[in-house]
Amino acid sequence: MNEKCTSLCPCQSGKIYQDCCQPLHQQSKIAETAEQLMRSRYSAFVLQHIDYIVETTVPSQQALLDYQALKQWAAQTQWLGLEVVKHSPTLDKIHSAVEFNAKFANADREQIHHEKSLFVKVGKHWYFADPTVPLPTMKQPCICGSGKKFKHCCGVMLCQFYGKN
Ligand SMILES: [Zn+2]
Ligand SMILES: [Zn+2]
Repeated sequence: MNEKCTSLCPCQSGKIYQDCCQPLHQQSKIAETAEQLMRSRYSAFVLQHIDYIVETTVPSQQALLDYQALKQWAAQTQWLGLEVVKHSPTLDKIHSAVEFNAKFANADREQIHHEKSLFVKVGKHWYFADPTVPLPTMKQPCICGSGKKFKHCCGVMLCQFYGKN
């Protein structure tokens, strides 16, 4: 076993990486909960596994992400820890929320990023709904492909979480 296999997972679950986020990163396992997906996205940032960040964003939003900017940001950031504050698994059938604090240092300044993230289930897979990319108007079809209008689906939740639209 190499060092990576026996070291603790960056998501701070207390498990070793091999038994925690690695199978998700290698796509040999899917995240069963939004919290698992959120943790695996955090450890993907730590490990600068940007493909995984893209793949775990709502499919219709993936092309809108700035891959190079994400890559550069991850490379410049030193991650200092993750604390999951609250996991709300059943906002409704297909939506979950995870509230967390991520501690990091950027240009030698220590910062805490606090966020309540929205996750949406499409088929068997959980995805992160990214509030930072251009979003549809409230009357347009939802980003998640549910067939509902954005305002009756992910839109209303993003609006509550981030005060958008
Ligand atoms: Zn992990
Ligand atoms: Zn939706």
